Amino acid sequence: MSTTAGIIIVGGGLAAARTAEQLRRSEFSGPITIVSDEDHLPYDRPPLSKEVLSGKLDDVTLKPAEFYAENDITLLLGTAATSVDPQAKQLTLADGRTLDYDELVIATGLVPKRIPSLPDLAGIRVLRSYDESMALRRQAGSARHAVVIGAGFIGCEVAASLRGLGVNVVLVEPQPAPLASVLGQQIGELVARLHRDEGVDVRCGVGVADVRGTGDVEKVILDDGAELDADLVVVGIGSTPATGWLEGSGIELDNGVVCDATGRTSTPHVWAIGDVASWRNTFGKQVRVEHWSNVADQARVLVPAMLGQDVPAAVTVPYFWSDQYDVKIQCLGEPGADDTVHVVSDDGRKFLAYYERDGVVTGVVGGGMPGKVMKARAKIAAGAPISDLLG
Ligand code: FAD
Repeated sequence: MSTTAGIIIVGGGLAAARTAEQLRRSEFSGPITIVSDEDHLPYDRPPLSKEVLSGKLDDVTLKPAEFYAENDITLLLGTAATSVDPQAKQLTLADGRTLDYDELVIATGLVPKRIPSLPDLAGIRVLRSYDESMALRRQAGSARHAVVIGAGFIGCEVAASLRGLGVNVVLVEPQPAPLASVLGQQIGELVARLHRDEGVDVRCGVGVADVRGTGDVEKVILDDGAELDADLVVVGIGSTPATGWLEGSGIELDNGVVCDATGRTSTPHVWAIGDVASWRNTFGKQVRVEHWSNVADQARVLVPAMLGQDVPAAVTVPYFWSDQYDVKIQCLGEPGADDTVHVVSDDGRKFLAYYERDGVVTGVVGGGMPGKVMKARAKIAAGAPISDLLG
């Protein structure tokens, strides 16, 4: 591989930072450039809905500026990549610059979904970036009534953090329970219980019909006719891959950037990693994972593949966590919402559940049970019979 132009990584998050680190760790000595549309050094997102929003943490920088200087990694911050020409191996930036690359890594993450039918009122927010988290925190300081639309992980965490700040919170979810599409209704109800115990008004099986106000948001109207006071609304209904800038490039897109099992795209010398990337898994299925630990796992595979080095085996037991109040919810494996759920421990707050499909354990989910969750790893990796864990 020629190293004259070097490797360009587009994105200013975890995937960009981990890829650059892994490249230097793998003794790649050519130029590395990170291009990010954000003005911040690459930073970590999990604290945005937790410690940052709660006012307990301000600095989420992954590595200090010296790290990039010492490792000869060029940072082009505050400028978006707007297009790529794979034939010319050239990237165009919003400021008009063009950059040549030998290899291009797409790490542009996600764009939070909004509800287009909602009026344009101050106080309706989404949460993906540091600036959005700080703005939400500032507003939460004077808010009395918040409505969080969507009880996925980010919606649930935002509800918990706002509650911790003393805001009255209504959590609205069209599905029968929080997190039902990921963890199933049974565990979703345990999560709903946790929020209700903390004083959150959890409304499931109902959607938002309208949001009203004059200038600032004032009311949220639900499908069932309920009118909720609101001086703050957070929309947490999921995100879509940030691939708009790749339209027309010829790089295959389908719910993200389509990659093989090493992050290689359909286009030579173009790779993708992190939340934006749909990798082929060990069962030949395209899967896009939106969890933190997946990023480092992918970097450990993508970088050697790109450098022509030995590629380690892919991680087969995925993991993620979510902090809500004092309870760390952890998930190991690939439990499905339709799997049979065996709740083996439940003290009214903390819980542990094993997931089963066709007699085989698919995953474990725990709330406040870290040791017990991790203990199940070997059984999940081995595809053990569920009886091994229940017995
Ligand atoms: P990102 O971190 O989103 O980074 C993408 C970067 O690319 C951004 O800086 C973006 O601005 C930039 N970018 C986009 N388009 C362009 C462009 N055209 N040109 C230049 N730059 C561009 N996971 C867990 O497992 N547990 C958790 O508790 C958890 N909590 C989370 C809480 C929040 C609020 C969020 C948002 C995510 C959370 N996650 C959690 C998920 C985890 O943070 C992500 O999996 C991880 O951030 C993915 O990293 P990434 O680099 O792929 O994407």
